[in-house]
Amino acid sequence: MVTFLAGGTGTPKLLDGADRVFDPAATTVVANTGDDVELGGFLVCPDVDTVLFHGGGVLDTETWWGIDGDTTATHEELHLLADAAGFDPGPRYLDDDAQTAGRDIARWRRFSGVAEFMEIGDRDRAVHLTRTSLLDEGRSLTAVTRTLASAFDLDVELLPMSDDPVATMVHTPGGPVHFQEYWVHRRAEPEVRDVEFRGADSAEPTAAVLDALDEPVVIGPSNPITSIGPMLAMDAFADALASTPVVAVSPFVEREVFSGPAAELMAGVGREPSTAGVADAYGFADAFVLDEADGTELDRPVVRTDTRMDGPDDAERVARAVERALAEVA
Ligand code: GDP
Repeated sequence: MVTFLAGGTGTPKLLDGADRVFDPAATTVVANTGDDVELGGFLVCPDVDTVLFHGGGVLDTETWWGIDGDTTATHEELHLLADAAGFDPGPRYLDDDAQTAGRDIARWRRFSGVAEFMEIGDRDRAVHLTRTSLLDEGRSLTAVTRTLASAFDLDVELLPMSDDPVATMVHTPGGPVHFQEYWVHRRAEPEVRDVEFRGADSAEPTAAVLDALDEPVVIGPSNPITSIGPMLAMDAFADALASTPVVAVSPFVEREVFSGPAAELMAGVGREPSTAGVADAYGFADAFVLDEADGTELDRPVVRTDTRMDGPDDAERVARAVERALAEVA
C-alpha cells in the first residue's frame, strides 16, 4: 500500500505513470482542499478534481485543470449578463455573515457567481453541481468524492484531506485574499506577506485519511505551502506523517521551480525558495527525490533522476526513483 499527497499539478503529473510502478488498487491519493471555493453556490475542489479528471482520462493536460475539450457556454453567458448589468468581472466575496452561514464545508471562501472569476467549463460545472447537491443531501465530502471517483472509474482511492473547511488565505499588502483570488484573478502579482490556513485549528483529517497515513507516503513535487501546507496545518495530519516513512519529490531544481508560485509563497512565509527550503519545511520526510541537475546536499537519503515530467514515461521514471527512495527508508 502507498499513499500520495496531491495538489493540482506536481503529484497528478507523477500519477500519470506511477500506476506502472505502484499497483493502483493499493494506492490512495489524499488531495488538498485548501484551494476549494464556493462559487455561485457550488463547491469547486480544484485539486480533488484534477485527480478525478486525470483518473477518468478526461483531464486537460495542457493546463492540468478542467476537462479536455470542455465548452464554456455558461461561463461566457455569465460574463455577458454581468457586463450588460454593469458588474465588474473581479471576484465578489459574499458578505462576512454569509461566509460562515449555511454549508460548513464552504466557510471563508464564498464568492458570488456574478461575472464568475474562475473559468468553469460546462461539463466541469456538472461535477460541482452534483458534488454540492450530494453534500446538501447530507453526505460528507469524503463520501461524495468516493461517489464521483466511482462515476469516473478511478482505479485508485481518492480522499479529500478533511471533511472540515480549511481556507488558504494569502496575506498581501492590500489585506488577505483567498488563494484563488491571488492565483487565478491576480496571477500571483501581489507581494506575499504570509499564508494562513483558516479553520485548520479545528479541522481534522478523516479516519480514512489517518488510515492512509499509516502506509508509506509519497509527496509528489507539490507546492509545499499551498498544496501540502493545508494538510500539515492540521496537527493530527502532521503527527501521522512524523511516524510513517515519507519520500518527497522536490518541485525545485535548486532554486528554480518548474511552474507556479511556489517560490514566491515560500519566500512570503520566510522559507528559502529552493530544494533546501522544501527539505526544511518537510522535517518529517525520510528521503528525497531530486533532479539530477540539483546539487543540493541534504541530511537525508537522496535519489536523483531527471524530474521533469511531460508524460507517462517521465512519470514512470520519477516513480521508480520514488520506489528506490522508499526502499531505503521503509
Ligand atoms: P498547484 O495545486 O497547481 O499549485 O500544484 P502542485 O502544488 O501540485 O504543484 C506545483 C508544483 O509542481 C510547482 O512548484 C512546480 O515546480 C511543480 N512541478 C510542475 N511540473 C513539474 C515537473 O515536471 N517536475 C517536477 N519535479 N515538478 C514539477
